Amino acid sequence: MHTTLAGAPSAFEGGLRPLGSGTWAWIQPDGGWGEANAGLVVGDGASAVIDTLWDQRRCREMLAAMAGPTADAPVRLAINTHADGDHWWGNAELPADARITTSSEARTAMDEEETPRGMARLRRLTGLSGRLPGRAGEMGRYVRGMLEPFDFRHVDLRLPDDSFHGSATEEVGGRALELRMLGPAHTVGDLIVHVPDAGVLYAADLLFVGVTPVMWAGPVDSWIAALNAILALDAGTIVPGHGPVGGPDEVRAMRDYWTWLEQAVAAQHRMGHKALEATIEILGDPDAAAYRRWLVPERTLISVSVMQRHLEGDGPLPRTTAVRAALFDQVASVRRALGDDLG
Ligand SMILES: [Zn+2]
Repeated sequence: MHTTLAGAPSAFEGGLRPLGSGTWAWIQPDGGWGEANAGLVVGDGASAVIDTLWDQRRCREMLAAMAGPTADAPVRLAINTHADGDHWWGNAELPADARITTSSEARTAMDEEETPRGMARLRRLTGLSGRLPGRAGEMGRYVRGMLEPFDFRHVDLRLPDDSFHGSATEEVGGRALELRMLGPAHTVGDLIVHVPDAGVLYAADLLFVGVTPVMWAGPVDSWIAALNAILALDAGTIVPGHGPVGGPDEVRAMRDYWTWLEQAVAAQHRMGHKALEATIEILGDPDAAAYRRWLVPERTLISVSVMQRHLEGDGPLPRTTAVRAALFDQVASVRRALGDDLG
C-alpha cells in the first residue's frame, strides 16, 4: 500500500507494520484528514485492537490484514482513544464478543459527535458546492477532498461497552495494557495505551508525526503536560494518531511546536489580530519554515482559534455544524494564502 486513501502516491509505506514483541501499528499514509492510524497487541490466545478508523470498509480491510497475527488470538478487547469519528466509527466490524472501552470523557463526547448520517450528507453537499465559484466552492472542494475516501452511508455506530476514569489496566492474553486519560488536549478525553512489556506506546492524537496537529479542546498547557507524561513512560516506540511511527524525539518535536505556537498566538493576541490574520502571519514568519512543511499546515487556524478562545476565557468551541463550517471556510482561506509557498 504505497498510496494515500485518496489514491495519490504516499510519502511512506502504510498497512500493518510490526513493532516487535507482538505489537503492530496500522498506518494510513500520509496522516492527513481522516488518515488515522490504529494498533494491535497480540497476547496468548487473545488480542486487543486500538482504534477502528473512520468507516467500516477501512476497518474491515484492517482486520483482514490482522487475520494472520490474530489467527490463534482473536480480538477480545478494543480501545477507542477519543471521540473523533476517524478513530472509532469502524467499531461495528469488531467481533460481537469483543469488549470496547474508552475514557469516560471520550464516551460522553461520542454522544455529541456529528453522526455518520450527518457526515454522509455533508459529503454529498460539498460535492455539489465544490462546483460553485468563489469562496463557497473553495470550501466545498476542500472539505470534499477530506471526505472523499470514506463511505459514511454504511456506518452503523457501535458505542463502547464501558469506560474508565483517569487510568485503567487491561489484561489481554496475559499482557498488561496501561490506559491513561491525558486530556483535555486534542479532544476532551484523549487516552494513551502503553504496553510496558514491549516498550510501545500508542499515543493516538496526542502525537502527530510530520502532520500539523489539530487542537479541538486544549488548553495548550494541558497538551504539553500530556506529552511530558508520555515521555516519562520511557517507551522507545511511539505510534502517533496520524503519520509514521516515531519515538521520544517526535514527542519532543510536538512539544516544541506547541511551545512555539503558544508564544506566537499570545503575541498575535496582544496585537488584537483575529484567528485568520493571526494564522497567516504566524505561518508566514521565517521561524515557521519547518512547520509549514508538515502536512496540512492550514489547519493551524483551528488550533489558533481555540487557543484564542482560551486566552479570552471563552468556553470550548461549540460542536455545531455552523461553527465547524465557519472554521473550514477559514482553513480553506489559509490554504489559499499559503499558496505556492507549500512544497
Ligand atoms: Zn485523528
